[in-house]
Amino acid sequence: MRLRPAHKLLLLLSLAGMFLAPSRASAQILKPCAGGITLKINASVTTQGSLLLTEVLGAKTVIGISGEWDGRAAPLWRASEKSPVLHGLLGVDLEKAPGHYEWKVSWKTADGNAVTCSVPVTVRAGKFPTERLTVEKQFVQPDPEQLKRIEEDQKKMRAIYDTLTPERLWDGKFRLPLQDMAAGGNFGRRRILNGEARSPHAGVDFPALAGTPVFASQSGKIVLAEELFYSGNTVVIDHGYGIYTLYAHLSEIGVHSGDAVETGAQIGKVGATGRVTGPHLHWGLTIQRARVNALKIVERQP
Ligand SMILES: [Zn+2]
Repeated sequence: MRLRPAHKLLLLLSLAGMFLAPSRASAQILKPCAGGITLKINASVTTQGSLLLTEVLGAKTVIGISGEWDGRAAPLWRASEKSPVLHGLLGVDLEKAPGHYEWKVSWKTADGNAVTCSVPVTVRAGKFPTERLTVEKQFVQPDPEQLKRIEEDQKKMRAIYDTLTPERLWDGKFRLPLQDMAAGGNFGRRRILNGEARSPHAGVDFPALAGTPVFASQSGKIVLAEELFYSGNTVVIDHGYGIYTLYAHLSEIGVHSGDAVETGAQIGKVGATGRVTGPHLHWGLTIQRARVNALKIVERQP
């Protein structure tokens, strides 16, 4: 959304708070398992909306290795075919109940024995501010026809996020979706729209002028390029292994569903379509269905 001076001050204050607040992240964990395999995770304590980096070391000869996080498959991949290290990303959904969880890895030894090894992970509540906004009435009290559209949109998005493409479509580092724009905010904010509580804000907002080019933050396949009720003109890119980025409220879409895109390809322009209070880019990151702060994937590379 467009930032008024008061909002700019708030943004500065919250950025300062991020640097001044004592870090709640814990040190990385190395867990030795049977057969010379070690599980590595970058933090054993994390917060809602975070991203965890995992590695399986010494996994050269194992068969059928698979990861699991919160009851769901957590894919593992090798940086190169012969590498003894497997990599993985775990998404912590922004509304994941605080508590104790486990990252589990299972495999078979050379003599056919099934082995499971796990690392405990504690999820803490994120500190997300609440904001009150006023939007057009239809976006808070949609009529029956609009409700039907919203349901169709949600079904479409669920089908996308339920699909786990079992290959890596990305290459190298993820980048920000706008040129010369480092400050994105609002992730995780609990929202009150026209006085009514709504689901939290699952993306990062970049205030920008309408027409500003929007770039693919990473290579992948376009799996959605159309207008949705709330997010307006929307593009979703599948990067493989359940990793998706979303670009919303575009004035124009420059790609089609099914297109392959490279990192930095222009996919559209900033706009104010859908439920907005002004032109901005809403950028989302979903990892195996978990809604994660997209800035984390730029800071921490898979
Ligand atoms: Zn947004």
